[in-house]
Amino acid sequence: NRVPPYKIPIPEEYYAHPDPANSQGRKANAAIVMLARNGDLNGVISSMKQMEDRFNKKFHYPYVFLNDEPFNDGFKTRVTEITDSTVQFGLIPNDHWNQPAWVNETKATESRNDMVKNNVIYGGSVPYRNMCRFNSGFFYRHELLKPYKYYWRVEPDIKFFCDLDYDPFLIMQDQNKVYGFTVSLYEYEATIPTLWNAVKSFIEKYPNLVSPDNAMAFLSDDGGETYNRCHFWSNFEIGDLDLWRGEAYSKFFEHLDEQGGFYYERWGDAPVHSIGAALFSKKEQIHFFNDIGYRHEPFQHCPQGDAHKKGKCWCDSAQNFDYEWYSCLNRYDKLFS
Ligand code: GDP
Ligand code: MN
Repeated sequence: NRVPPYKIPIPEEYYAHPDPANSQGRKANAAIVMLARNGDLNGVISSMKQMEDRFNKKFHYPYVFLNDEPFNDGFKTRVTEITDSTVQFGLIPNDHWNQPAWVNETKATESRNDMVKNNVIYGGSVPYRNMCRFNSGFFYRHELLKPYKYYWRVEPDIKFFCDLDYDPFLIMQDQNKVYGFTVSLYEYEATIPTLWNAVKSFIEKYPNLVSPDNAMAFLSDDGGETYNRCHFWSNFEIGDLDLWRGEAYSKFFEHLDEQGGFYYERWGDAPVHSIGAALFSKKEQIHFFNDIGYRHEPFQHCPQGDAHKKGKCWCDSAQNFDYEWYSCLNRYDKLFS
């Protein structure tokens, strides 16, 4: 039986800080990325302050902010005020954001109305769908992200509970990881009724693009016949942009987009990224960041035992989603047993 990789402690050499004063310092080619609206400012600042205090004031990774509308001066001022790092503000091109003209608006409207009737969360929202499609297929192509290989996705109003004294980007780089997560759970069936059919038709069409040592067992309990709805919660991601830019995921996104499910249903970027990461990488390349205490309402990962002490975590370790009934972490563990 193999031990899940996160139970192997991070080696001490990773705890060197890349200050200019420290000649041992190494840095990855990485940026912290946040998609936000001007109106999200207070939540953005709150998330950023924690990112700085818990991690980035020692590591100085640059920030990239993206928005479908221009950021206003008030936003830019407050954001640049609370970090010494470089901050860039990017505008998302219209054709990376808006509902494409070929989408049948009558069908899309009907579906939104049905979802509203059925109380599906964000079921009536077009902007939310634009956001999910953008995160699924476009953010990694943005001009401002072109120079980077790794990214850490952050959202407004999240919490980081623990001091992170090592560089997670270097873990990704040195250990050849491509996708890192802290929380995994089940997707709402009503948002993705035909997603798995689209995945299966993709696999039939391009069997050679699927990784031989993939993590299908995280997604499916019957060898790929049906989707168990497990996904990594994508409001937190530390990932390799080249996973998304590669041939397999690019063709996969194109195939999904053609089905129209981002608008006829409400496909989320979380299941889409998760399925992509699970099928187009080796299972060992997906990393659970156990040391990163994290909360996005209404769930949190709070490190347990030694990790809680080492990180000086301020969360109550009894409040931890890892093995709650709605978590998929047990399926991740099983990949390695
Ligand atoms: P939830 O986490 O699924 O409840 O969705 P959020 O409202 O947190 O949205 C996810 C991310 O997308 C957050 O970083 C938001 O700031 C961002 N976001 C959502 N809708 C829009 C939008 O219409 N425009 C922009 N620029 N960002 C958005
Ligand atoms: Mn959110």
